[in-house]
Amino acid sequence: MPEKILQKEDAKDLLRVCSREHELFAPVRDGSRIIWSPVAPDDRLEFEFSNTDLSPKGFMFPQTERLMHFKNRPEDPQGMIMEQEAGLSRPRALVNIRPCDAKAFAVLDLVFERDASSTDVYWKDKRENTLLIGLACKHPCPTCFCTSVNCGPHHEEGLDVLLVDLDNRLLVKPLTASGEKLTADLPDAGQADIDQAAEQKQEAEAAITSGVSLDSIASRTVLEEYEHPCFERIFESCINCGTCTYFCPTCHCFDIQDETQEDYGRRIRTWDSCMSWLFTHHTSGHNPRGTKKDRVRQRFMHKFKYMPIKLDGAIGCVGCGRCTSKCPVNIDVRSVVNRMNESISE
Ligand code: SF4
Ligand code: SF4
Repeated sequence: MPEKILQKEDAKDLLRVCSREHELFAPVRDGSRIIWSPVAPDDRLEFEFSNTDLSPKGFMFPQTERLMHFKNRPEDPQGMIMEQEAGLSRPRALVNIRPCDAKAFAVLDLVFERDASSTDVYWKDKRENTLLIGLACKHPCPTCFCTSVNCGPHHEEGLDVLLVDLDNRLLVKPLTASGEKLTADLPDAGQADIDQAAEQKQEAEAAITSGVSLDSIASRTVLEEYEHPCFERIFESCINCGTCTYFCPTCHCFDIQDETQEDYGRRIRTWDSCMSWLFTHHTSGHNPRGTKKDRVRQRFMHKFKYMPIKLDGAIGCVGCGRCTSKCPVNIDVRSVVNRMNESISE
């Protein structure tokens, strides 16, 4: 699909077209933070930001979500009636989503839509009704390492459109049929604009100077990696607060609870965290991850060993760096993974 060009001051025209069918959301400034917020076509969009504070994960997998409600009718021969909640009332568009956050949706598709028999209908409904208009990263953060985990500042996976900020213009790259439809009326980009975007991509990739190595982790058996001596110390400073899991765009553990009052009830799903002691506590009293070491090991093994095995090589991390920048005790995912990758005999 040919690249298009759009004057930045005309971005509102594209948003106006988009808003005919979609509710619009975009990153906006809120004090020192960048947060996701509903926007109108005439609102000024942010183009200079590193990444949003919280990831957009909650648009597909809300922090708290009602899955169904039920009513017990003991006198009725039909007994209990359960009703699924309605899906999205209107399609949405996430504008200026970062490529790493869109890639995270693509990774979670492999979890929530693994096969037809186990598709998560709540995830699927939101995914199918959400248009993703990405904004390539110009100035990656010092904590970013996307290029070493199958992602990058101009990565296209999961997006419908990718925008590249060329100062007063935007290079517009349609990537799906929906993206092509939205951008059909824009003029084609010239070769100079395409070359400038390619140069910017190279510069942004070169600006990412840290990364993780995964070759040894991939070549070892699960048990070999599980028993890596690095896990004897890594967990010590962790306070199991769960911050890393809540900010992470790919963490997807959840809990389901039924809340009832008299004959009425509702089934609720909420984010959970493998860092919580209670998360794997069995009703028998046994807890397979009863120590802090077990829980910290689980988080890293899950993302960098178990997920690639189960999901055809997909890594449970897109290198956004949020867990590193938010951890209150400065645990850096890059140094943990690089230690996991070290020789076991060392
Ligand atoms: S944010 Fe840091 S201290 Fe908190 S659970 Fe994660 S690694 Fe542990
Ligand atoms: S593990 Fe950390 S760096 Fe990787 S996707 Fe999650 S928050 Fe981002």
